[in-house]
Amino acid sequence: MVVTGAAGLLGSHLCRRLVAGGAEVVGVDDLSTSDGTNLADLRSDPRFGFVRADVTSGIPVDGPVDLVLHFASPASPPDYLRLPLETLRVGSAGTWHALDLAADRGARLVLASTSEVYGDPLEHPQTESYWGNVNPVGPRSVYDEAKRFAEALTAAYRRQRGADTAIVRIFNTYGPGLRPGDGRVVSNFLSAALTGKPLTIYGTGEQTRSLCYVDDLVAGVLAVAASNLAGPVNLGNPAELTVAELAETVLAVTGSSSPIEHLPLPVDDPARRRPDITFATTELGWAPVVEVRDGLARTARWMAEQSTLRPARRG
Ligand code: UDP
Repeated sequence: MVVTGAAGLLGSHLCRRLVAGGAEVVGVDDLSTSDGTNLADLRSDPRFGFVRADVTSGIPVDGPVDLVLHFASPASPPDYLRLPLETLRVGSAGTWHALDLAADRGARLVLASTSEVYGDPLEHPQTESYWGNVNPVGPRSVYDEAKRFAEALTAAYRRQRGADTAIVRIFNTYGPGLRPGDGRVVSNFLSAALTGKPLTIYGTGEQTRSLCYVDDLVAGVLAVAASNLAGPVNLGNPAELTVAELAETVLAVTGSSSPIEHLPLPVDDPARRRPDITFATTELGWAPVVEVRDGLARTARWMAEQSTLRPARRG
C-alpha cells in the first residue's frame, strides 16, 4: 500500500492504522509542510518504509501495490496561501502520478478531496450532489480548484481507463499529530490556550465549522478504501459549532485563561460548513463517535507534550 502525504495529520494516522492491521506500507512525503516527527514511531517497523519525494515529479515506489491513498497536499490555509503554485501542482500533476501508479499496478486509489470543493456553500448542510460555490480566482482557489481538478481527473481515469478509484470529501479534522499553530483553527486555538497567548478569532466568530476527530475520519477513509464505492463520499462530523463557541470550548477544556482577540476575516472564508453524511452512513455504516470536547481534550493532552509547541500565527 502507498500513502502519499504520509507525514501529515491524516497520512500519518492512516499509515499507523494500516501497519497495525498487518499491511506493508510505503509512505511518501516531501516534508514541505511537516517535519516527519508524526512518523517517528513507525520508522523502525519493518512493514513501514518512508520515501522522501515530491509526488509532482513522480512516485518512486517499486513492486506490487494494491491500494494508493493519495493525501499529499498542503491543507492549512496559511500553508497553501504561502505555496500557491505548489498546491495547484500537487493537486494536478501529483494526482496524475498517483492515478498512473494505481492504474499501472491495478491498485485501488482513494483521493483525499475536501469540503472546500463546496466553497462558501449556498446549500446547507452539504450533500455530495451539491456542486459548490467557489471563487475560481480568489486566493483560496489554489486549494479548492486543485482539489476540484483532482476530482475531475480521478473521475476521468475511472471512465477512460477503468481505474478503481474513490473520492472522499474530508471536512475539518483535528487530533494528535496536528502541527502546533499550523494556522488551522483547532491547532491555533489549542496552542494559544496552552501557551497563554490570545485565541485569535477571525471576524465575528459567527462562522461555523463541523470538526471531526482524526480516529473517526481515518475509520471512514479505510471503510471507503475497503468498499467498492466510487464516491464522492462526504466524511466529517455533522456536529456544527461557531468559531466563537469553539474558542470557549478550548478555554474550558484546557482550563486556560488566555484572552480572545478578534482579527480580520480572511478573503472568501466560508460562512458555514456541515457535512450531510447520510451516504456514508447508509452505504458503509460509518458515523463519527468522538464528541468535540473529548476530542479536543485528547488533542490538548498530546499537544502539551510536544516540544515544538509554539504560539499561534495569523492565517
Ligand atoms: N479561524 C480563526 N482563528 C484562527 C484560525 C482560523 O478564527 O486562528 C477561523 C477561520 O477564519 C475559519 C475557521 O476558523 O472561519 C476554520 O479555519 P481553518 O483554517 O481551520 O479551516 P478552513 O475550514 O477555513 O479551511
